[in-house]
Amino acid sequence: MKEFGLFIDGEWHAAKGGKTAPTINPATEEPWATVAVADREDVRKAVAAAKKAHDRGVWRNKSPQERGEILQKVAMAMFERQDEIAAAEVQDGGGTMRKAMSMDIPGAAQTFMHFGQFICGDEYKAMICEEFDEMVPVPSKNLVVREPIGVCAGITPWNFPLIMAAWKIAPALAAGNTVVIKPASVTPVTALMLGEICTKAGVPAGVVNVISGPGGTAGEELAMHPDIGKIAFTGSTEVGRRIMQLGAGTLKKVTLELGGKSPNIILDDANLDTAALGALFATFLHQGQICESGTRVLVHEKIHDQLIEKMIAGIQRIQIGDTMDPTTGMGPLVSAAQRETVEKYVGIGKEQGAKCVVGGKRPAAMNKGYYFEPTIFDDVDNKMRIAQEEIFGPVVSVIRYKDEDEAVRIANDSVYGLGGAVWSANKDRAVAVAKRIETGTVWINDYHMINLRFPFGGYKQSGVGRELGKWGLAEYHELKHIHVGEDTPPEGKFYLQLLLN
Ligand code: NDP
Repeated sequence: MKEFGLFIDGEWHAAKGGKTAPTINPATEEPWATVAVADREDVRKAVAAAKKAHDRGVWRNKSPQERGEILQKVAMAMFERQDEIAAAEVQDGGGTMRKAMSMDIPGAAQTFMHFGQFICGDEYKAMICEEFDEMVPVPSKNLVVREPIGVCAGITPWNFPLIMAAWKIAPALAAGNTVVIKPASVTPVTALMLGEICTKAGVPAGVVNVISGPGGTAGEELAMHPDIGKIAFTGSTEVGRRIMQLGAGTLKKVTLELGGKSPNIILDDANLDTAALGALFATFLHQGQICESGTRVLVHEKIHDQLIEKMIAGIQRIQIGDTMDPTTGMGPLVSAAQRETVEKYVGIGKEQGAKCVVGGKRPAAMNKGYYFEPTIFDDVDNKMRIAQEEIFGPVVSVIRYKDEDEAVRIANDSVYGLGGAVWSANKDRAVAVAKRIETGTVWINDYHMINLRFPFGGYKQSGVGRELGKWGLAEYHELKHIHVGEDTPPEGKFYLQLLLN
């Protein structure tokens, strides 16, 4: 069995209290590694290491070029260890090897590559120091500079442990900050490995610290700690709210990437073969455990029957099974508890009158692992709980609409506002619909195509602030205005008369 400690100040440490916990492979229900469990004191030690590294300037005093080159080395080091990291990601979280090799490893490594390259370029140079000459209220040169915040904390979820850790670490480091990362307790391993990879690639000790521990103690300690200037969280809306409350005590900057109930709108002129398969991809990729999953398929009544037929046919092409087998498209859910949540919602859907046309149960062929069949509910009313609440499993609700206005009204009738899509043969028409949807991302004729160059985040209760792109990077900076006045005798300063006779 593999063993992992806490990664603090460039080294592995046991937890102060000596506590460890097994991490379970969701496909086998067996433990495959043990991980040290941090308590509040371990968290304080990690924050102290990050603060010391920041105060000493070992990272922020490097030029953007130097930092950028090291971040690019982190990316290359991830590719060099990709087999080992992918195996850990699959065993920890239950995703497929196919996804790990084509999405998790490249997605995480490219996050470091992207931010590393961006800060070496002219656009970042212009972004961190802008100059303005002004005559009012007095002649002056004005510098608007962006500086690192200090110690940033990242609290990450279990659905994409490696990518989420990369989304928190890479932009924070690019901006010159130091970090403490707390991964989800059920999937801590790849974030811990990433801490070590960063250090071995040249990030100085103390700049990246990763500690695994319970949200209720280790997470809350981070959210309250006075030496942390910013907290970036991805997870449930409920915990996001709690983190905002705790962070308010020391007025931390907070970015939150939370739940969703994203609308996937199929217009009546869409290519139905593509839209049907796109709707399956939008909902069943990674067993539906993705915040921006297109869990509400809004379909024009005229094409409803054809779409459902094609979706049901498409499901036959999804192989459920051994996560290590490269032909497997769907693995298990992350935990027994998550499968119970999904089962509860399937029951609620049936009780409230939705029609379960496919799935709705555990696959008969699998006697081990937290597997659940891809499930389609038809005849869903948007007021039903399965259309309003985040299920975070392979369950899609199909809702009919009569015209575009009704589609937009249903799409926006949600407390969430994270993602969504519009499928249509007419791109202008689709863009016009996209502009009316209250979400942070809308794809047209695609789904899940997150692009590192562009902002990602939510409207309404799906979040606060943005990650990725120059907009996400900006969130890791303080903004400072430096006013450079004229060096004159006192008579040159008219404003002195406001006080002096
Ligand atoms: P949580 O929001 O509870 O967990 C996300 C992270 O927050 C984990 O690292 C967790 O630690 C930590 N955490 C939990 N409680 C606190 C706290 N009080 N203070 C600080 N940190 C805390 O998600 P769950 O794992 O419980 O999943 C529940 C639901 O959340 C899912 O069913 C899904 O609907 C949604 N979710 C959304 C995600 C997204 O990408 N937007 C991702 C994951 C879940 P620990 O693991 O130790 O509890």
